[in-house]
Amino acid sequence: MRDPVRLNPIPALVERARTYFRSEVTRPLQFRLERLRALEASMRAHEQQVFGALKADLGKSPHEAYPAEIGLVYADLKHARKHLKQWMKPARQSLPLTFWPGSAWQYSEPLGTALVISPWNYPFQLGTSPLIGAIAAGCSIVHKPSELAPHTSAVVETVLKHAFGDDGYVTVVQGGAETNQQLLAERFDVIFFTGSTRVGQIVMEAAAKHLTPVILELGGKSPCLIDADADLAVTARRIMWAKTYNAGQTCVGPDYALVHREVKDRFIEACRVELASLYGSEPKQSPDYARIITPRHHQRLVALMSGGRAVIGGQHDEASKYLAPTVLVDVDPASPLMREEIFGPILPVLEVKDMDEAIEFVRARPKPLALYAFTSSSQTAERILARTSSGGAMVNDLLLHVASGLPFGGVGQSGMGAYHGKASFDAFSHRKSVLKKPFFMDLKVRYPPYKVSLDLFRKLLG
Ligand code: NAD
Repeated sequence: MRDPVRLNPIPALVERARTYFRSEVTRPLQFRLERLRALEASMRAHEQQVFGALKADLGKSPHEAYPAEIGLVYADLKHARKHLKQWMKPARQSLPLTFWPGSAWQYSEPLGTALVISPWNYPFQLGTSPLIGAIAAGCSIVHKPSELAPHTSAVVETVLKHAFGDDGYVTVVQGGAETNQQLLAERFDVIFFTGSTRVGQIVMEAAAKHLTPVILELGGKSPCLIDADADLAVTARRIMWAKTYNAGQTCVGPDYALVHREVKDRFIEACRVELASLYGSEPKQSPDYARIITPRHHQRLVALMSGGRAVIGGQHDEASKYLAPTVLVDVDPASPLMREEIFGPILPVLEVKDMDEAIEFVRARPKPLALYAFTSSSQTAERILARTSSGGAMVNDLLLHVASGLPFGGVGQSGMGAYHGKASFDAFSHRKSVLKKPFFMDLKVRYPPYKVSLDLFRKLLG
């Protein structure tokens, strides 16, 4: 017999995934727990390959790779295994007296076959972590890793095949935009996309054709608001760390800083001191400092730098994809630097007269994925949080909220839906409302011909 997967790979692979889901083997708790365990065991068996691949793709140091790419996934796996039984249980809800006798429930059922698409910047974590929710929820999965991190995408495939085999439960499809568009032409029951806002729009448009629900984990320009009462040394250290983590190629990385004018110069000097302590006088020599993913992204970042004047860094070398940690001043708010997501180790610093001006600056732009407020005043922090909208936020620190177990996701142009912890299970589940009634007490008043007055109906229904 001719093999449909070889003849017409993508539709046949998707159909195989759908058949797997329809077989119902993914439903029992035991199956899901075993698969979560298998994923963890396979990850542990391939850790060294993961480190090697991340070094090859991004020059990522193991000290960045472990917490952000591997440890976070282990933590999510552990949490899912511990709570899955509880999450899967139908949850009883209260029922108004009018509906008695009876009981009200919410059942979580798997949405079906999930398409999970990931980007290149945390290629291992973003290729595995969303799968935890899909496995926990009882879905079958088609996964497309990023073509721009080829070493890591190959290891993701190895890890998943080692864990699950290749029988339609978890199918890895390697390829770029064209492959992705072929996948998006197929009907899925849920699409989980991590990537840029531009491609997020393409994904949502394709999903609309099949009325497929989407979770969009996108990017944006995440601001830092720094008030005059902030501890400048700690603020600068944390911002420089976050701005240079993975060479700034982090969706929740700080994009730009709005600094109270009284402390702007001192903040920049503190950045200089902190950068030297993080990477020495030659960041290029530091084994802890990552590289830009491709020459094309490197060129884009170099071009963006013309939107300001470098007071720290600015050096770059396309051949080694190195771009120095850079701080810019005299920033043109209308330049591409301030219109596009930077996604690199460049921090534009803009001066504001107070935090209200900073708030207005943020409010005038698309809602960011993260917002970072630096102040010693809890009232100021609350005012910033209340008057701005962002996917998530932190006060006096950065990035860590992603790993805290809190639901993580964007709002507006930075995305929709959330995951991590129970939110991952919910992202791939449908909450089915179920009302159960016994046969007894079949009161005739509800049926025609109506014998009671409308007033009595009104009273009964409250
Ligand atoms: P991207 O949108 O270019 O690519 C993401 C995925 O979409 C890849 O698998 C790619 O193959 C595919 N793709 C690219 N072009 C396509 C097209 N025209 N049609 C269909 N599919 C296409 O994103 P990227 O450059 O890989 O990643 C960087 C972006 O991702 C940044 O904007 C960043 O903020 C965002 N991001 C968000 C999160 C989050 O959790 N919210 C995490 C990481 C990255």
